[in-house]
Amino acid sequence: MGSEKKRLFDGKVAVITASTQGIGFAIARRLALEGASVVISSRRQNNVDEAVAKLKAEGLDVFGLACHVSLADQRANLIKSTVDKYGQIDILISNAAVNPSVDPILTMSEKALDKLWEINLKASVQIVQDAAPFLSDNSSVIFVTSITAFNPMGSLAMYAVMKTALLGLTKALAAELAPKTRVNGIAPGFVPTRFADFITNDLKLREEIESKTLLKRLGTTEDMAAAAAFLASDDASYITGETLVIGGGAPSRL
Ligand code: NAP
Repeated sequence: MGSEKKRLFDGKVAVITASTQGIGFAIARRLALEGASVVISSRRQNNVDEAVAKLKAEGLDVFGLACHVSLADQRANLIKSTVDKYGQIDILISNAAVNPSVDPILTMSEKALDKLWEINLKASVQIVQDAAPFLSDNSSVIFVTSITAFNPMGSLAMYAVMKTALLGLTKALAAELAPKTRVNGIAPGFVPTRFADFITNDLKLREEIESKTLLKRLGTTEDMAAAAAFLASDDASYITGETLVIGGGAPSRL
């Protein structure tokens, strides 16, 4: 009998969009550390190459390719390349999102509204449509939403409304894909990443956010990855259609 401990995701294949840095990268690393073969992607090939090199240097089984989630051919290529290489998909994490404008909803341009819909919501639907035929029995889909989904406010209002829509998408797809595939969401609080640096680099704003958490700190990408790993694992085998808030106790919902 071997003495090596079986890891959570040994033999599993995970595809993660927007995973060359920040939360997506941390999820990729965590799943790979737990034994998964992980397919990394984002728009820029050089970012993909860099992320793959970093994880390979840790001895992890990763493979990467460029995929702008709004481009049908690149999504199709992401899924086909994964299936050609690994045969199936056990975990799909839809992580890509943009925040193209900090304008109030009433004055937001049509271009910004279209971009929010195209990338944050429509592509989240489409990546699941593309992957669905290849999802294995006992597979898991996870949407990365946001704590702002529960309280759309200020300069993040319209972005947050798209995240609120992901809560509904999570429930709706959980019903469509059951019982073969579980569908859940993670709702991060504020995490210092490039995406959020216009907020977290502002000392006053940062302190205000930290003070609203019970744990008196921002989240880390590893905090988010741990929650995603839990939901993707068999430890969460009776959880579907739910969204887990990882917000340090900041106000979200009852
Ligand atoms: P990040 O560190 O800035 O990373 C963004 C990643 O997305 C990069 O790898 C980027 O690479 C990729 N990307 C951007 N547009 C893309 C597209 N159209 N198609 C594919 N990849 C794309 O951001 P993050 O903070 O980790 O955000 C990740 C997710 O967490 C988002 O859904 C965000 O809404 C959510 N979130 C973040 C926070 C926070 O405080 N950070 C809080 C709540 C929720 P390329 O430039 O190479 O494409």
